[in-house]
Amino acid sequence: LPVKRKHIVRFIVLLSAIISFFFFVIHEPATVAGYASPVDTGIQLSANFGEIRPGHRHMGLDIRTNGRENVEVKAVADGYVSRIGISASGYGNVIYITHNNNRTSVYAHLNEFYSTLGVAIRDQQQKTKQWEQDLVFAKDRFPVTKGMLIGLSGNTGHSEGPHLHFEWRDTRTGASVNPQKELFRLEDGIAPVIEELFVYDATSVCSKGAITTINSPAGNYGKQLIVNASKICFGVSAVDKMNNNQFNLGTYRLTVFDNNVRIFESVKDSISQDHIVSVHNEVDYRHWYRKGVFAEYLFSRDRDSEATINRRKNKQGVVDLGDKKNHHIIIRAVDLGGNATEVAFDIRSGSIAAQAGPTRKVTNLRAGKKAVLRSGNWVFDFMIGSLFDDISFEPTHSRSRYPSSVSETVNLHDPAVPLGDSVKVSLKLDDALRNKAQLVFVLSNDVFYDVIRPVFSGNRAFCEIPVFGHLTLVRDTVRPVVGLAGWRNKGKLPQGNLVNLTISDNLKKVGEFAATIDGVWVPFNRKENRFWYSIPAGFPKGSHKLVVSVSDVAGNLTRNSFL
Ligand SMILES: [Zn+2]
Repeated sequence: LPVKRKHIVRFIVLLSAIISFFFFVIHEPATVAGYASPVDTGIQLSANFGEIRPGHRHMGLDIRTNGRENVEVKAVADGYVSRIGISASGYGNVIYITHNNNRTSVYAHLNEFYSTLGVAIRDQQQKTKQWEQDLVFAKDRFPVTKGMLIGLSGNTGHSEGPHLHFEWRDTRTGASVNPQKELFRLEDGIAPVIEELFVYDATSVCSKGAITTINSPAGNYGKQLIVNASKICFGVSAVDKMNNNQFNLGTYRLTVFDNNVRIFESVKDSISQDHIVSVHNEVDYRHWYRKGVFAEYLFSRDRDSEATINRRKNKQGVVDLGDKKNHHIIIRAVDLGGNATEVAFDIRSGSIAAQAGPTRKVTNLRAGKKAVLRSGNWVFDFMIGSLFDDISFEPTHSRSRYPSSVSETVNLHDPAVPLGDSVKVSLKLDDALRNKAQLVFVLSNDVFYDVIRPVFSGNRAFCEIPVFGHLTLVRDTVRPVVGLAGWRNKGKLPQGNLVNLTISDNLKKVGEFAATIDGVWVPFNRKENRFWYSIPAGFPKGSHKLVVSVSDVAGNLTRNSFL
């Protein structure tokens, strides 16, 4: 019997695969009349508009390219190439096409630009001896027609797998518009899922985190909740599912009702470009830091005037439990297919006195206020926008774990508490540190690591920190190491004409990079600490000399020649 059952299961799996294949073929691509699809493989999303990322929202759609690179990418409408970018991070290789209806389409993480554009870019790289470029073009330079091949997809820049990142922007304001509203109608018959529901004390959201968490709160959550807070607000971790798609996507509309009055709603129709700082107003950073899961706030904060997404505020999502009565709360998630999921429950305030007791720490830093604090040889300069709520800031000092450290490590608050604007930090240098060469700050926490070159003034070293964590001044005297793969000995060209370099550094951060072949500068591509260069066709055979110069943040330079 088990064998037979196995066969039946296999048959059903096969059948559903066939059915979903036909659905896929019949229903995709789903572009709105007048627009072309940017890829011929149909529009399957691995991420949608407005999804939360560390420190920002996802400004477009991630369109799958069947796990492959070098898929043809096409212009969605007539227009002209108004800008291109080449970068080791962010969008990687990116094309901006401006259309005549106040819209600009953006195609990111590309491998290649179409030929005439590619030639112009390589000319500019050679002229400036810079691989990274950010170029703007006049209207008549590179005209583009709907459906024209503009490049090949890839995985360049900050991308964790082959895909096309596509954006649809308002040309005048630069705001990103939800492409699913204007370009692509995708089938979605599956409701969003609310995975976790969070209740916060509205006075200490960032510093304390949720005071109550409900897992999988589907439908009518039967229990009545009692909390020790007089003003509360909510957050959810919610995902949207789509037909024929195994990816967890973001939700489109989130609404909160207090006794059937709508007190908060966020709708992901467009996102302004200045969203990056304010995303901490909208995301439970603490939950992400601790659990790796994004939870979205269902309330607006005071500094939220430059709201990143369309938020309709009434009481800004805060429920006043001061009346000691039951409040009936409904939280609703809706997707673009109109499918809705609701969670309903009753909540009231219990004893508030317990919270105001003597165990509560006195706060010494206030949200929205500038402040300067000293601790030993360190000075911390908080900006108006640095903190989201009041905290008790007491740095501790410990021995550094870096062998080349020249300071103690200062441990700054709780790294799960987000910073808006960077905090300026300075360290007094003692006389032994009169030689400032090769000094760098290393800042780290569980999710963050960076090496920062200080600015020196008088006898102090300055830097700006975007997160709380552990900060140490290090004297780095170790040069980066260049590893070369595929360059056959005696200067023969490498296999596939591809030169692959891996640079490693004791502090893991590579600074400047340059390479020449036979004395001529060549534009190596870069992604993190990987560098590659494809030798053009027609390059003469025989012996060649590759010279690579690379430095780390501290300025240690390595110069290697390969014959
Ligand atoms: Zn993307």
